[in-house]
Amino acid sequence: MIETRNLVHRYGDDGPAAVDGVSLSIDDGEFVLLAGPNGSGKSTLVRHFNGLLEPDEGAVLVDGAPVDENLVAARTKVGMVFQQPRDGFVAATVGADVAFGPENLGLSREEIDRRVDAALAAVNMTGRREERIDELSGGERERVAVAGALAMEPDHLVLDEPFTGLDAPARESVVDQLRALKEAGTGVVLVTHDLRDAVDLADRVVALADGRVAADGAPDEVRDRLPDLGIRVPPRREPRRP
Ligand code: ADP
Ligand code: MG
Repeated sequence: MIETRNLVHRYGDDGPAAVDGVSLSIDDGEFVLLAGPNGSGKSTLVRHFNGLLEPDEGAVLVDGAPVDENLVAARTKVGMVFQQPRDGFVAATVGADVAFGPENLGLSREEIDRRVDAALAAVNMTGRREERIDELSGGERERVAVAGALAMEPDHLVLDEPFTGLDAPARESVVDQLRALKEAGTGVVLVTHDLRDAVDLADRVVALADGRVAADGAPDEVRDRLPDLGIRVPPRREPRRP
């Protein structure tokens, strides 16, 4: 479980709060859409979930333990896939990149290989370990980035705007991977300013506005409030007739 308690984050000493008093609990296995317009604080918030940023006020806990007291545990439990994954690769080939995280956990070679194979299978990239990342398409790079996070076998996978720059088929493929992860019990926090791709998968939508939680609930409970917050939602589906 990920918890924030009255989390405040400022960039600079007396700047405005980018995250301004956010208290949230995200359960294991929960699929959360974190929505909000550009600049509403989404990336700043999620970067606290595994200690990439530290709170100015308040606390962040993973399974009850403060993140800053055990960064390794937090980073093992909360996987992070960034916006613009092309900047986030550490190795030249698919297999080496996906293996990097597990190698840093000090696992055996057999366990690392098992995890790399499982993570690549989960994103439909079995058999592509030797391929060079700089020769992949944007959608394939996104899948490698997801595989790298999955190889840590996290309880939660956080994806920050994974659809940016992807065409419709690549977006659909990412949505398919997320559906499979959800079915396998991995919690997902999907950061987006546009709900249309994945609202059907979500258990819950949390909307930020100016660094605060402006709406939090099941998609059907909150959707009517979202357009006013600058968040695009797909039209409601017609109820099926018998
Ligand atoms: P979002 O991900 O919702 O677009 P961000 O968390 O990136 O929002 O940004 C929240 C606020 O913090 C914005 O006003 C943004 O300009 C500011 N901000 C984000 N990153 C930095 C940074 N590295 N330095 C200074 N200000 C930042
Ligand atoms: Mg962002």
